[in-house]
Amino acid sequence: MSRAKSLSDARRSIEAVYRERTPQSRGLHERAQRALPGGESRTATFFKPYPTYIDSGHGTHLTDLDGNRLLDFTFNSTSMIHGHTHSEIVQEIQDRIAQGTAWNAPNVGQVDLAEMLCERVSSFERMRFTNSGTEANMQAIKAARAFTGRSLIIKMDFAYHGTYEGVELNKGPGGWGENASPVSPGVPCNAADNVLIAPFDDVEVAEWLLESYPDQVAAVVVNPAQTQGGLRAPSAGYLQSLREMTVRHGALLIFDEVITLRLSRGGGQGLYGVNPDLTAVGKIIGGGLPVGGLGGREEIMGVFADHQPPQLPHAGTFNGNPAVMAGGIATLQLLDPQAFERIAQMGRTLAGAITNAAREAGVSLQVTRIESLLGVEFPDAGDTANEILELVTLALINRGYKFATMMAASTVTTEHEVAGLGAALADVLRELRPAIVEVAPAGIR
Ligand code: PLP
Repeated sequence: MSRAKSLSDARRSIEAVYRERTPQSRGLHERAQRALPGGESRTATFFKPYPTYIDSGHGTHLTDLDGNRLLDFTFNSTSMIHGHTHSEIVQEIQDRIAQGTAWNAPNVGQVDLAEMLCERVSSFERMRFTNSGTEANMQAIKAARAFTGRSLIIKMDFAYHGTYEGVELNKGPGGWGENASPVSPGVPCNAADNVLIAPFDDVEVAEWLLESYPDQVAAVVVNPAQTQGGLRAPSAGYLQSLREMTVRHGALLIFDEVITLRLSRGGGQGLYGVNPDLTAVGKIIGGGLPVGGLGGREEIMGVFADHQPPQLPHAGTFNGNPAVMAGGIATLQLLDPQAFERIAQMGRTLAGAITNAAREAGVSLQVTRIESLLGVEFPDAGDTANEILELVTLALINRGYKFATMMAASTVTTEHEVAGLGAALADVLRELRPAIVEVAPAGIR
């Protein structure tokens, strides 16, 4: 049987089981499409034939509308570092909400959370809060431009910094540097006028661009570990080189730590020992509520300071929202050094279980792990890699596991749960092997 036929047969039978298990989700998705384009407000949560509607989450488990339990290894795109509805976090948020949810005045929670983050993250001398990681990156880039008086930024190919047109650009047909290509319609072509694209983990191209545009680059923006298109750790010395060359060229270094903040008590910068000028954060710092923030050197963050008027106005009706701050404070209080050690160890166990499952099934699969963060890819599957990943993910939902290309261990994930995922994945990969191995020679990379 051809591989294409194997793939389409596999999809048909996996989808049939999924439809059987999830009639409520199917019905709601039909209804949702009449009110929401595509039935959702987030692109990333959609999958074929329709997404699973989750009713509740507790600890490591989600429960869908049909009452199916799903053991979660995705944790809302790695943001629920203590799992779902952690009792202490929920209590803090509830207590705070009961005192009021929003007002036109500052609140003590944002001072407390800012102090905690400034104490933990080595480059944070001052910080401000936003409602998302996207906004955090927007404001960091804007602050860099305001501070330096320069317009250009250098952004890494494939790097995701949120759905903001100023960073939704990748390498264009002309090669590295200018003429970046918008990632979608709606991003104006002239967005590329202010963005130069470099490859992640490549010191030479970054240096060449800084030399080619003297006194024009406001900032180099980089994820300390790239989390889009697979998880990629930086080579030894790469971030240090960016640090050194940005200083030499009078440009700022911005880290997007929206995901990598979970890598250590001091984030990716703590793990890799490099201090950027500005950092965007999000995800884990809001206790599961919508959040973002940016921090950095006092003199740069000073562009936001309340001179009348400030050099750089930064408004936001819900910035530093008290309930979000309460969730963030409770989350960080639970994140002591032992918690980081524990999730890194669990990440190692998870990577081992996935690797062993692939080995048992005789399927080529690559797991990349940095501390508690995992990237899973089918690197030899060519243009069928996404389809295989989708099928594996759907087949695992049918077995009660929420799996994805980017996963994370939480502080409440157990070894027993990881072993369960490993066994289920081995079954799924064995079943899908005929659809995978013709393009992906058996073996583990
Ligand atoms: N930057 C990175 C590295 C991210 O992974 C994300 C979201 O996944 C963002 C920025 C955007 O954050 P948000 O979804 O909170 O806007």
